Amino acid sequence: MRSRHALRGVLLTLAASLAIAAAQRAPDAELQLLRPELLALTCPERTWSQPPTEAQRLAAARRDAFRALLPEYLARLPAEPDAVLAMPVDGVRVAQVADTWGAPRGGGRRHEGQDVFAPRGTPIRSATHGIVFEVSDRFTGGRGVMVLGAGGVRYFYTHFDAYAEGLREGMAVTPDTILGYVGTDGNAGGTPPHLHFGAYAFDPESCRHRAFDPLPLMVDRTHLASD
Ligand SMILES: [Zn+2]
Repeated sequence: MRSRHALRGVLLTLAASLAIAAAQRAPDAELQLLRPELLALTCPERTWSQPPTEAQRLAAARRDAFRALLPEYLARLPAEPDAVLAMPVDGVRVAQVADTWGAPRGGGRRHEGQDVFAPRGTPIRSATHGIVFEVSDRFTGGRGVMVLGAGGVRYFYTHFDAYAEGLREGMAVTPDTILGYVGTDGNAGGTPPHLHFGAYAFDPESCRHRAFDPLPLMVDRTHLASD
């Protein structure tokens, strides 16, 4: 009985992993291959310090499916990370952002990003050029978008009231592209509408991303327009 149960668990995990893998999107075919050598990049195998739970296995399978696609994306992006990030919320100036990087949050967590407050429905634009890597409501922040930018840096936008029409994984974006609209989705329920904006540097050795504070790189869009 026990082994049959275990086998069923394995099969369910396998089926779920395959479904997840099939759902991940490759970048659009017309995107220029800038660094084809990166297509050979292989990420290290994941290891477990103790046997994972079913939920952990599923989450890992989902992440692995995205990691398998990483080289396809990285090969189409410039090597040097962006040094300037355009304010992602329309009508807000950088000086209006209260710096909450690293601020304590519930459960021993720290705030790994910046919150940009604006009326519900305000357009959210990409802070950089890049490729839409993931569009998902699975995030703690609810509806969200992960954009992969130059140097493999991940930019994370969440709490959307709605996604922009036509937004899809694999598409190229510029700082003009609307990703979605400010809201209170996910764990922002009960707070004033805002965008949570996160940035994660990429380490090609480990294929891991590490959060950094995007605020020092953020500039007003009026500043960009006058350049
Ligand atoms: Zn936040």
